[in-house]
Amino acid sequence: MSGERDTIAAISTAPGAGGIAIVRLSGPRAEAILRAAFRPANDKADLSGRRLTYGAAGGEEGAAIDEAMAVLVRAPYTFTREGVAEIPCHGGSACASAVLRRVLLLGARAAEPGEFTRRAYENGRVDLSRAEAVMQLVGAQGEAARRAALRQMRGGVASFVEGAVQRLTDMLSRIQAAVDFPEEVDEAAVAAQVRAELEELAGQIERRADPKRARMLREGASVVLCGRPNVGKSSLMNALLSAERAIVTDIPGTTRDVLSERFTLGGKVVRLSDTAGIRASGDAIERMGVERARSEVEAADVALLVLDMSQPLTDEDRALLAKVDERYLLCLNKRDLPEALDEAALPDLPAVRLCARTGEGVEGRLARLEERLGAGGGEEECFTVERQLRLAREAAATLRGCAQALGDGFSPDVVAPDMLRVCELLDNVTGRDASEEVISAIFANFCVGK
Ligand code: GDP
Repeated sequence: MSGERDTIAAISTAPGAGGIAIVRLSGPRAEAILRAAFRPANDKADLSGRRLTYGAAGGEEGAAIDEAMAVLVRAPYTFTREGVAEIPCHGGSACASAVLRRVLLLGARAAEPGEFTRRAYENGRVDLSRAEAVMQLVGAQGEAARRAALRQMRGGVASFVEGAVQRLTDMLSRIQAAVDFPEEVDEAAVAAQVRAELEELAGQIERRADPKRARMLREGASVVLCGRPNVGKSSLMNALLSAERAIVTDIPGTTRDVLSERFTLGGKVVRLSDTAGIRASGDAIERMGVERARSEVEAADVALLVLDMSQPLTDEDRALLAKVDERYLLCLNKRDLPEALDEAALPDLPAVRLCARTGEGVEGRLARLEERLGAGGGEEECFTVERQLRLAREAAATLRGCAQALGDGFSPDVVAPDMLRVCELLDNVTGRDASEEVISAIFANFCVGK
């Protein structure tokens, strides 16, 4: 690249109607373009003062486009480390688009998706893991996802990774000492010590690179209601959402599709699905529903198996109960009716008695569900981006392999190249030596204006 960098511009706010839209500029000409595109209401206003200034965004020959504000921050005290100007104007598409057209006419170039953050990365303001966190933060649904993204943006992942590389480097130097000074350094002792440290480090990485946890943070937890027809799944779904989402009926097998709805529970996003009655069926459409229901249950993080307390267990109930695993919670519904269920025959799983029709006991169900979703997810920084997860998991697997080799009696210098490779993998998380291809792929997933 030669000469001065382009000055880029984009509408940084989401499209659609809203009170305010912001046009953002970054680059060496940001100030000059702002001065040409915006006139402060007060002639004495000092645009360079980092102050929000009131005035008019202007078109050619001084015609006003919109009454707006403007703020200018000079390099390098900005996110991109370049001069940045922002023009908050009226929302909706017309004003911001007209202002954007004006700054493009004045010499700015339309920014590509993620280009502001890319410049922040290229100018050393953020590493790749932090840049990715910006994207996660923008897309975060629910408190847990927001907290995880913010921790990552503040360097949580980067400092963990740097610490891990530091530890590996330290182990490598001890291995080197054993090779260089075989008389003074006891190789077997070094091997045993390094092996233990590798196992520990692999465990730390694995805990932070749990794909299930990452998916739960990104997309929310999936909770599925299952049970034979007519036990009250749709009613419970409605009670849980306190909304009439599913059509409640008395005819068995009429809930044919999987309905799902999102809500937040204790800061975590939950996707709650109601499945068709899982049971043997001759009807083709219903059979398809049953298939989908089965795969939903298999993929779910938590399955709520609903039983009807007012009836003895049926063969269908027993067939479902035979398949339960640790992801299941039992909902004993219709507690308002005389009890006919033999609870002693139930598997040892957390159970809540409730009445979906009146909503009694549903609060308790939600509380237990929240507990369940909270378990296993500590607050430490974790890899949530697919790219980071892949690198981390490969790193952990390689470290386990190294530890295994040492356990099998190989000398430490044999595993050293693999340990070096792990350092490289971890460095890639923060993107120290990321290739152009990797960088472009990452920023292409951003939205324009970010
Ligand atoms: P699904 O087929 O499992 O989705 O069951 P539904 O939600 O459609 O409910 C089947 C029938 O059971 C309906 O007539 C509901 O009104 C009734 N029902 C659901 N929950 C309760 C409850 O807690 N108590 C009583 N008495 N009836 C209920």
